[in-house]
Amino acid sequence: MREFPDDASCLEHLWRQRYAPDGEHAECPKCERERVFKKYATAQGRQSWTCTGCGHHVHPTAGTIFAKSSTSLHLWYYAMYMMASTRCGLSAKQLEREIGVSYRTAWRMLNKIRNELMADDGEPLRGDIEADETSVDGKPRKPHGQHPQIALGRSRRSEAMKLRERSRATVFAAVERGGRVKATVLPSRRGPALKAKLVEWVEPESIIVTDEWGAYKGLERHFLAHSRINHSSGVYVEGDTHTNTIEGFFGHLKPAIRGTYRKVSHRWLQGYLNEFVWRRNARYAETSMFAALLDRIDA
Ligand SMILES: [Zn+2]
Repeated sequence: MREFPDDASCLEHLWRQRYAPDGEHAECPKCERERVFKKYATAQGRQSWTCTGCGHHVHPTAGTIFAKSSTSLHLWYYAMYMMASTRCGLSAKQLEREIGVSYRTAWRMLNKIRNELMADDGEPLRGDIEADETSVDGKPRKPHGQHPQIALGRSRRSEAMKLRERSRATVFAAVERGGRVKATVLPSRRGPALKAKLVEWVEPESIIVTDEWGAYKGLERHFLAHSRINHSSGVYVEGDTHTNTIEGFFGHLKPAIRGTYRKVSHRWLQGYLNEFVWRRNARYAETSMFAALLDRIDA
């Protein structure tokens, strides 16, 4: 509220961040050179900056998530601030109450922030990488101890397993030890899908650590090395061979999604993953998390 007290200060910020660091000089796309710009309201009443050489208008919101939105920039900035500062997520219901927009508007704003500002930056991971998959409803792929459905008859059991498989989304994630994380929703937890993602995310001269799940077999062919920890025989740490970092990420993600968002459909799950991944990675930003999010407006 101090830094951005109103719409005008948010617009001025966008103008400076995207076009004119000093607020006055910007590259004019029409003149194809640096020009002095002045701020005028256009005939439609929208604020824009005008090239004093040729009269070309620059709208600082064009091409951003705020373009064509009827919600004020000030409310957008406030929503971004809340998204950057919460630890456990922000429900549309809460944003609706907080800024007085409709539930639909609140939901659309959060969706845009998650899917555009917080989307993966495409920077590869390197070094010691832990990878693991899970389902957001919290059930492990093979529960330790007695199987909960062991009491059911054989056919009913496989029927129930199939149903559960279908209704569950696989979340696959990889983390650089001491660094960033990436996470995605996959249609299956089988080998080819997992391997393709890892190859896309991780530089080949990295060391991969996973558990003993068969889908991870053969990863040493794509990377410098691959070590596996045998969870099913009760071993969780063996020197550097453990997946505690990635499990720690899941351990925060899953209760937070359940607590704040209740049930998340497959269709929107990636957005929620983006949100938690972004927030975790932004810890390493040199600026505040809100400033880091503002930096993404242009990305
Ligand atoms: Zn011009």
